[in-house]
Amino acid sequence: MANTKKIKVGFVSLGCPKNQVDIEKMLSLVDSEESYEIVTEDYEADVIIINTCGFIESAKQESIENILDVAWLKENRNLKSIIVTGCLSERYREQIFEQLPEVDAVLGVGSYGEIIRAIKATLKGKRFSSFEDKNTCELGGDRILTTPFYSAYLKIAEGCDNRCTYCAIPDIRGKFRSRPIEDLVEEAKILEASGVRELNIVAQDTTRYGLDLYGEYKLAELIKRISAETNIPWIRLMYCYPDKITDELIEEFKTNKKLLKYIDLPIQHISDKILKKMNRHGGSETIKDAVARLRSVPGMVIRTTVIVGFPGETEEDFAELCEYIKEARFDKFGAFTYSREEDTPAYDFEDQIDEQVKQDRYDIIMGEQQTIVEEMNTQKEGKLITAIVEGYDPDNKVFFGRCGSDAPEIDSKVYFTGNKQLKVGSFVNVKITQCMDYDLYGELLGDINQ
Ligand code: SF4
Repeated sequence: MANTKKIKVGFVSLGCPKNQVDIEKMLSLVDSEESYEIVTEDYEADVIIINTCGFIESAKQESIENILDVAWLKENRNLKSIIVTGCLSERYREQIFEQLPEVDAVLGVGSYGEIIRAIKATLKGKRFSSFEDKNTCELGGDRILTTPFYSAYLKIAEGCDNRCTYCAIPDIRGKFRSRPIEDLVEEAKILEASGVRELNIVAQDTTRYGLDLYGEYKLAELIKRISAETNIPWIRLMYCYPDKITDELIEEFKTNKKLLKYIDLPIQHISDKILKKMNRHGGSETIKDAVARLRSVPGMVIRTTVIVGFPGETEEDFAELCEYIKEARFDKFGAFTYSREEDTPAYDFEDQIDEQVKQDRYDIIMGEQQTIVEEMNTQKEGKLITAIVEGYDPDNKVFFGRCGSDAPEIDSKVYFTGNKQLKVGSFVNVKITQCMDYDLYGELLGDINQ
């Protein structure tokens, strides 16, 4: 039989981990086709899937730049087809073909199952688009991980019902839909079997898990099941919402050794006036209460993010936020300047804040947090931590990895010396000798399991 050349399919994954899970599902569909092969180098590809992000201006620009970069390969390499998927294609389904003629196919967030048909049509020189109903499309599916083998995201739900006034995601991703516990436990087992040691649980609002499907919050129960039915040693919670930190969840943090004492809990602001304008559920007391209860868990690390420069934010509101950040002493912190997004309620709010004022407030609050981090760092020196080994840097002769209080991609690293062969994905004990900014430095004390 003639040895037919396989179609080389490349991909660009942009945006958040929830979007990343979607490209992993599309790659699994591509991989299951005999005549296709996944390539990691763009210049080799015949087809490139660009899984875009589109919820704020800067992310939209990054997606468009990536599409134009890839279009260069059409003129100068073998590239025959560009397929755009993800939030930008869902949000701007009408404009993509018009404004980006280089694009051959557009798939909405409900149409990942159409990726093979899209590839086939575009390789025949036809344009293709599909926008299946995102509120009923299949949420599960096999995946080809794009994360290192020892770490994976588990997307437990899609969409969002919270309707924060600055956010386009509910319109892009549809209503909140939990995946059945059985499916998620099954997926966790498959991930464990493929070598996963760290499971990062994600959704738009992870803490809302189960309400739509079971009529009650089921996040604590889901964690219990995954912990009981797998030996994955690190389970991490991302994207939690302050008004849904249940007593069951706090109890799970206190008793479940596999659940990392880490939570990502965006608060967005603390001024009740601004929280109300943002349509954030629960006011400052809800946030302070949630943080206080989480702080009752020994060794708890809390990550948060805030938005500065929201319409109507006065100097007093901003001062109140800075005061709270100094008081709460969050371990991990991020800030965003408000991005005025069309088709969101806040877009039409009066009292839009000047861009320079937003930037000034951003610099001030990041400066406040820097001081807190420096103070916290001094307390870490001499401490023993458990880290997952991610690699070795031969130039600097140091290993690098992350400890439980560092989420992948968004938090910091630990660099440590050690005269042993260490396996990537294994766990080791490290003594911290120094901290610089957010990164930790130390020396290997011993490995936990190989
Ligand atoms: S919780 Fe708010 S900010 Fe987050 S995705 Fe939902 S609407 Fe957007």
